[in-house]
Amino acid sequence: MGPPGAGKGTQASTLSKDLGVPQIATGDIFRSNVSTGTEIGRTAQRYMDAGDYVPDSVTNQMVRARLGEADAQDGFLLDGYPRTLDQVGTLDDILAELGTELDAVVSLKVDSEELIARLLKRAHQDGRADDDESVIRYRQKVYVDQTAPLLDVYAVRGLLIEVDGIGDVDEVRGRIATAVADHTKRDA
Ligand code: ADP
Repeated sequence: MGPPGAGKGTQASTLSKDLGVPQIATGDIFRSNVSTGTEIGRTAQRYMDAGDYVPDSVTNQMVRARLGEADAQDGFLLDGYPRTLDQVGTLDDILAELGTELDAVVSLKVDSEELIARLLKRAHQDGRADDDESVIRYRQKVYVDQTAPLLDVYAVRGLLIEVDGIGDVDEVRGRIATAVADHTKRDA
């Protein structure tokens, strides 16, 4: 977990390779549906452009299907899901049905002004018209309002690992690897 711009996708990709499990990134799945023009893509695009979350019903159904696929049966890394309390409840149900549970929840911590600076820089470099400052700020607010409360839920369950997301990619990668290994040892 982590707010927009925290480097969540980059780190999730490396960590999933290190762990040998598929990375299941809801944002990527939505974007690929947008580019192939599916029904899900058409629904998702409106919300994504506005900086809002895609409705839980759509997201939950998509994740349920993805977690049922063969390559996810021996483990997976969720990137960008769950993002709402409703999604936490659905994920609990899906995992119970599959007879599995989460090992850990990694949260990347980055101060919000640092994030806004990073995202504005990226928007300039890529010429991304979708990422103007008001949408960037709005996405941070959506994270704080809808997703940050999930951190407490997973902390109470003893699953939360908080990692400082400031620093270069390899530095943060090292912190995550160490923290996840420690957490796994503690549970063993
Ligand atoms: P970022 O890393 O910039 O936050 P993602 O690539 O994870 O973005 O997701 C892009 C967009 O896809 C989100 O802003 C949101 O609109 C939608 N999305 C992704 N995951 C979810 C989710 N779990 N629930 C609802 N919407 C989601």
